[in-house]
Amino acid sequence: MKLDYWIIMLDFFFGLFSHDLAIDLGTANTLVAIKGKGIVIREPSVVARHRKTKKVLAVGSEAKRMLGKTPQSIEALRPLRRGVISDFDATEAMLAHYIKLVHERPQKYLPNIPRPKVIIGIPSGVTEVERRAVQEAALDAGARLAYLIEEPMAAAIGAGLPVQESKGSLIVDIGGGTSEIAVISLGGIVVNRSIRVAGDAMDQAVVTFARLKHALLIGEQTAEDVKISIGSAFMTDDNKQTVVRGRDLEAGLPKSIKFNATEIREALADVVNQIIAGVKEVIEETPPEFIGDIMEQGVTLAGGGSQLSGIDKLIAQEVKMPVWRAEDPQTAVVRGALKLFENEELLQRVRVTGGLK
Ligand code: ADP
Ligand code: MG
Repeated sequence: MKLDYWIIMLDFFFGLFSHDLAIDLGTANTLVAIKGKGIVIREPSVVARHRKTKKVLAVGSEAKRMLGKTPQSIEALRPLRRGVISDFDATEAMLAHYIKLVHERPQKYLPNIPRPKVIIGIPSGVTEVERRAVQEAALDAGARLAYLIEEPMAAAIGAGLPVQESKGSLIVDIGGGTSEIAVISLGGIVVNRSIRVAGDAMDQAVVTFARLKHALLIGEQTAEDVKISIGSAFMTDDNKQTVVRGRDLEAGLPKSIKFNATEIREALADVVNQIIAGVKEVIEETPPEFIGDIMEQGVTLAGGGSQLSGIDKLIAQEVKMPVWRAEDPQTAVVRGALKLFENEELLQRVRVTGGLK
């Protein structure tokens, strides 16, 4: 008890001077926010490094530009692609890069500036061992304290849901590699599903569609552009079109083809239905006393993938409940983590691991 008191006092004192950070370590994007300042970094979760020496050459958008285009000596990878840490060293390098980027500047002027307290949102599928490793990485990168919280919890807080109340809130965070579906009550996760079907799987569906229907070979980046520009989940009147350039599978030569919104919606339907099936499973497992709350409050969507046009309408139709998208859904996790700096009690309740080294 006494020690806790001193830690809190010291923490308060240091907190007056240091840049406390909230980090969303997403499968597709990493966001960093500073207490009192807001979001300062929003970059793809990609690392480029030398294949043999493993020396990191670039992180973020610079590394993303290298994806799929690297010469043999360089590899560009997404270390959290499937919602688990597939490459620990790269994850650590990415985390260290961002913490240092934000933290190092003031140190040049003030040699003893307190090191930051860091709250990191991680996919809920990350194992206990991996969590500890992420925490260690944050401490090694200069954090004074590192707390880890689960992304659906952070997303719910960021979306402004009453997570501390005894009510049940249902959050669906559709990211790049994973969709996280959770029912939250009293600061805890009541039911939770993390499925490996989200934005990346939609892109892959567009790649497959182009190959099978048009004998056209396109890259993931092109597929993502198509999804964002004309992709949808729910039927609308306007049938938007876009011209896609790729390689003809038979002739092996460049070819341009027009895709329309209807065929892309059909191509995405399977992936969208898998996400909806996940939501239904969670609802089925939710204790009945929460169902009324969820029907009243509605299902909340967050994450970049929730921006797919009409996905809110389709989910509403399928689960027979109101569905709404959080404001600026792609930043909900980092904003939620940032809010925890103002609510120590909630932070202590929702953290999955963390503390001093
Ligand atoms: P993560 O939390 O896993 O890092 P994000 O929440 O950043 O993922 O979401 C990334 C996903 O959102 C990507 O698959 C991206 O293509 C998708 N996305 C972003 N904007 C849109 C949009 N307007 N329509 C459909 N998908 C989108
Ligand atoms: Mg996310």
